[in-house]
Amino acid sequence: MAITKRQATELAKQTFEYAPAPESIDHIKIEPRYGLFIGGKMIPPHSKKRFPTINPATEQKLSEVVEADEVDVDRAVKAAGKAFDSWSRMAAARRARYLFRISRILQERARELAVVETMDGGKPIKESRDVDIPLAAAHFFYYAGWADKLEWAFPNRKPRPLGVAGQVIPWNFPLLMLAWKIAPALAAGNTVVLKPAETTPLSALLFADICMQAELPPGVVNILTGGGKTGSLVVMHPLVKKVAFTGSTEVGKLIQRSLAGTGKRLTLELGGKAANIVFDDAPLDQAVEGIVNGIYFNQGHVCCAGSRLLVQESIAEPLLEKLKIRLGTLRLGDQLDKNTDIGAINSKTQLEKIESLVESGIEEGADIFQPECKLPERGYWFPPTLFTNVSQSYRIAREEIFGPVLSVLTFRTPAEAVEKANNTPYGLSAGVWTDKGSRILWMAERMRAGVVWANTFNRFDPTSPFGGYKESGFGREGGRHGLLPYLELV
Ligand code: NAD
Repeated sequence: MAITKRQATELAKQTFEYAPAPESIDHIKIEPRYGLFIGGKMIPPHSKKRFPTINPATEQKLSEVVEADEVDVDRAVKAAGKAFDSWSRMAAARRARYLFRISRILQERARELAVVETMDGGKPIKESRDVDIPLAAAHFFYYAGWADKLEWAFPNRKPRPLGVAGQVIPWNFPLLMLAWKIAPALAAGNTVVLKPAETTPLSALLFADICMQAELPPGVVNILTGGGKTGSLVVMHPLVKKVAFTGSTEVGKLIQRSLAGTGKRLTLELGGKAANIVFDDAPLDQAVEGIVNGIYFNQGHVCCAGSRLLVQESIAEPLLEKLKIRLGTLRLGDQLDKNTDIGAINSKTQLEKIESLVESGIEEGADIFQPECKLPERGYWFPPTLFTNVSQSYRIAREEIFGPVLSVLTFRTPAEAVEKANNTPYGLSAGVWTDKGSRILWMAERMRAGVVWANTFNRFDPTSPFGGYKESGFGREGGRHGLLPYLELV
């Protein structure tokens, strides 16, 4: 028997009690301090500087890592340069075998990696377990397949590797961003020096252990911890032939300026302010799930997050009512609990940035909605937040918040939706929710965004290229396109 509309609303309002279901951490071994991974082994650093990496949910120190200095960077780049001679000449099918082996070990050690990623970064265990780690393994698996087929990937051309790649990544998907960078570089025959973000170095250091377990030839992968200074030393090193950077638009611009005239190849994956557009013929309940996944996944620390909801005026009221009820059912708290939907904000700095942008939204006149939600006393937390009555000129509609904050705008016609969606300096992703295939195609053609999702959001696959337009950067990662930045086509 079909339920009435009222019963459905009552049902949606119900929140379920869940018993705690914490993932066990007794199988995890985090060293009290780490060295640097150079030339195939963990070595003591030249730099005497170290800094702690903490669990953002508890503010407890997990370990201490090195702030690599100029000498450390030089050693790592030279180790990669030395390894390049043999790695680039190795039979491609043998190179592929190493990548397959890494992929398999990532799968075997998935539980350990998921727990470490979650403890170090704050994201819910169900996300690192079901998204980050499986996708990282899939990435290596996918590019392993290309390693001995480069001449088929680019017919009538002779693809050649470039040399040492200097790679710098952010903290929101630490192991996955590492995989996006290292897998295509290695498959194409390059060697790498990678620097993880300062707040999330642990999964990259575990990856160093995986390289040793896979018996990857020494120097093919080198991992240096450190902050922005270390990152700039890596990208500026004269022996680095190719720079791949994922991070903020601000730092991306800085890197682009400093590399101008050096002849180094560069790809930039930067920020975003994506529009998630819901038309009046969209299935509303499905759209609500897509909106939630679009902005509250990983606490909104997602470059392609659907942080601007554009909803057709005629359905704004029922959609927002459903959305608010759904927000009330999200579970925030211990990120190691398997039922947690919203974990900790990655760092104090990021929390302060979110708080100040939310404050600006209130001051500029938007209406704020936050479901009732008890925040833990220690650690960095922010409740899922929704703003209505937002004007396009408000900072919350223009700037990347990189937190669980959604700005809602409305539109009347498809043309207005296009105009508003593209009214941003960014161009990384967009989402379109409608029943009509023709409208999806019409919209996709007009979106100035690298990825357009239809009736879904935040879906990733290693075979599919990802990257930006405008201030979201240039170059593509994933798919056959993702090999190109690491190859010279003769
Ligand atoms: P960030 O730019 O501050 O830092 C990113 C990395 O760059 C870190 O490892 C950092 O240590 C390093 N770094 C800082 N200054 C540097 C310099 N001068 N030279 C070289 N390296 C330097 O960004 P963040 O706050 O860590 O990450 C969040 C940003 O990353 C957001 O803007 C987000 O949109 C973006 N991001 C983009 C993508 C994408 O694929 N487009 C993916 C994830 C994150």
